[in-house]
Amino acid sequence: MFEQYRSLKALHPDAILFFRMGDFYETFFEDAVICARVLEITLTSRNKADPEPIPMAGVPVHAVAAYLQRLTDQGFRVAIGEQTEDPALAKGLVRREVVRVVTPAVTWDPAALEGRAANWLAVVARGPGGFGVVVLDASTGDLRGTLVGQQAQAEEEVRRLEPKEVVFGPGVAPFAVTGALPSALAPAEWEPAARALATRIPDAAALPAELQLAAGAALRYADQHLGGALGNVHSLTTWEPAGHMVIDEASRRNLELSRALSGGRKGSLLDLLDECATNMGSRRLSEWVLFPLLDRARIHRRAEGVAALVEDGTTRRELRDALRMVADLERLAARVAHGTATARDLLATGRSLGALPPLRALLASQAGLSALVPADLATDVGLDITRSLVDDPPPTITEGGLFREGVDPELDALVRLSVDGQALVEAMEDEERAATGISSLKIRQNRVFGYFIEVSTANLHRVPTRFLRKQTLSNCERYVTAELQELERRVTTADERRRQLELDLFRRLRTRVHEAGARVAAVARAVASLDAVASLAEVASRAGWVRPEVDDSRDLVLVAARHPVVEAALRTVAGGEGRFVPNDLSITPQTASLCILTGPNMAGKSTVLRTAALVVLLAQLGSFVPADRARVGVCDRIFTRVGASDDLRRGQSTFMVEMAETAAILRDATPRSLVVLDEIGRGTSTYDGLAIAWAVAEDLHDRLTCKALFATHYHELVALADTHPRVRNLHVAVGEVGQEIVFFRTLREGGASRSYGIQCARLAGLPEPVIARARVLLQTLEKPATDGGRR
Ligand code: ADP
Ligand code: MG
Repeated sequence: MFEQYRSLKALHPDAILFFRMGDFYETFFEDAVICARVLEITLTSRNKADPEPIPMAGVPVHAVAAYLQRLTDQGFRVAIGEQTEDPALAKGLVRREVVRVVTPAVTWDPAALEGRAANWLAVVARGPGGFGVVVLDASTGDLRGTLVGQQAQAEEEVRRLEPKEVVFGPGVAPFAVTGALPSALAPAEWEPAARALATRIPDAAALPAELQLAAGAALRYADQHLGGALGNVHSLTTWEPAGHMVIDEASRRNLELSRALSGGRKGSLLDLLDECATNMGSRRLSEWVLFPLLDRARIHRRAEGVAALVEDGTTRRELRDALRMVADLERLAARVAHGTATARDLLATGRSLGALPPLRALLASQAGLSALVPADLATDVGLDITRSLVDDPPPTITEGGLFREGVDPELDALVRLSVDGQALVEAMEDEERAATGISSLKIRQNRVFGYFIEVSTANLHRVPTRFLRKQTLSNCERYVTAELQELERRVTTADERRRQLELDLFRRLRTRVHEAGARVAAVARAVASLDAVASLAEVASRAGWVRPEVDDSRDLVLVAARHPVVEAALRTVAGGEGRFVPNDLSITPQTASLCILTGPNMAGKSTVLRTAALVVLLAQLGSFVPADRARVGVCDRIFTRVGASDDLRRGQSTFMVEMAETAAILRDATPRSLVVLDEIGRGTSTYDGLAIAWAVAEDLHDRLTCKALFATHYHELVALADTHPRVRNLHVAVGEVGQEIVFFRTLREGGASRSYGIQCARLAGLPEPVIARARVLLQTLEKPATDGGRR
């Protein structure tokens, strides 16, 4: 057996091998040690008597999904070694083969997937035309690609999608992607895979070679690991990086778009926006957040839909109620394609499709929305399913009981026979009771003996000789008769044939649904968009957001803007404190492109900065925005940098990270960009920091002329306005009541007069004597400065 084990392991050295033994998957050696730790299961050993026992740890087959998820979550691959012949029939050792390899990106088990997030495998291929970037979600069949010129852009696009695995083609310098497992496809596989692509996706032949190469590799990789062809991929869609706003990784993190700084989804913008009724909608929305639009017409179209549903609350409610009846059609389709869909899965598909036709009538009067409802809702596919399957089918497909009466005449006949058989058994029971006079006589059935007559010990003297004894138990005896055996044969063969027939019928139904896969996928895409639009409308209407005016100017004009997430958090705080103070902010690069924002710690500077960035982003993804009024000129990029955020993960000093990020801004920003700098220059000595901040501000103003918001604790920067025409000073107002600092949270013209550092320190609980001493020191420190001397 261990020879067999080693030969399987040798074929998949980079995977943990799950070795099927009866009702368990066992792991051995190093794998067992890893599994015991990661899965928190017991580490035992085989051949305990041996001087060197073999470490072993196993998981039960019925619970394998959850264990697989934990392993793939931790970046492991798992090779599933099944018994591929019936142990009862095997001569000697049972044959075992690796039937599939589960990796973080190649899985379709619902238990192993986060419903609201896509599960991407990314592939980067290189050719003379540049870099083909393709992502594939095996759980939904979604395949997309783009062609970019530079490796840096390829990295950007891959990172934006947060894949679970990345495969690099020949000639591509591998790069790290947070949260992704680096994977590989043998170099010899790439070209043949690209050639094979056209047989699955006919349109692909027209695509650039780099895209064909990457897409072919993605499918090949998935097929290899699935142990069969990935069946639910119907098309390759392309995206245009230039069609979307660029938000680099640092900015995505700083703005907490899909994850809060604390790491979880809670507290992120996406979490706030996601009121979707379906997982498909949630996934679509997350895509919209990561790919804000640049094209005004597209922004307008999406926002039209949101506006229609904000205005018409009744339709919105009815639409969302209808969508709640829709299951995850995309992931169900994947299970249909892989032949793992059960009757319950098919029924969920059928019922979901059945819930859609009313949407057409519901949205008929809304021009923007009715366009989103496709002409083909695959209603016939839904009816085929719901008319075939019973309302509450069993979880397994092998035991029968799946189909309605009237679906198949042969099945009906078999069902009648087995039901009649039951009645005949009951009749025989009555007869035997009468014949023997044993009123407690029972005809029963179990797996081992089939049907038998059971007589309690007290009545044994009445048992006739035609009863043949089968088994003796402590309180009864079990018998059969020739008549009972004949009856049993009829009933069980009917039963067995029924089960087999139902399984065949079910497989045929599943194949029909699979053949309609492309139509169902199109319906699923439409549902996802409708759901995402409805979610944006729901959030906008609950929180009192407005539709922004999006134009081709470079302006950003906000009236009473709020930070969506901070506002929502404050709203839940009990008492009068929980009010977000709205602020007006306008940056009009023609007259004022660079805003220098000063104010003490905790005043609300960072919140103002993030509000501006988030409003722009929301406006360009087609959403309403948290303001009373907003005019947003389309931005091609948003950059946000936060100083003094230790980035220990990258093993660089804070200052180096900050400078590298600032360098990237000065290199990549255009006049249409929005640059948000939050206290950069902190990680070095005061003069160095100030000098750098000053020079960066000048460059933003003089050369780039883009919209820039610069929060700083260097009050000296306020003086920039004297010499630079388009610099505007703003501060977040605070006041003093006695020695206490009061935060007004309002934005005012001009620089802050003081930093209130000592008041903040006091607020933070620094002891009174220390505070008092600091006040004295501050006076002596400030004196020479006001005299014009050096500090
Ligand atoms: P700064 O960057 O000036 O140190 P922050 O922007 O981090 O200040 O804000 C500090 C805290 O003040 C935030 O956590 C938030 O809870 C609160 N806050 C900020 N702006 C507002 C506002 N406009 N209304 C209400 N609370 C606010
Ligand atoms: Mg701050």
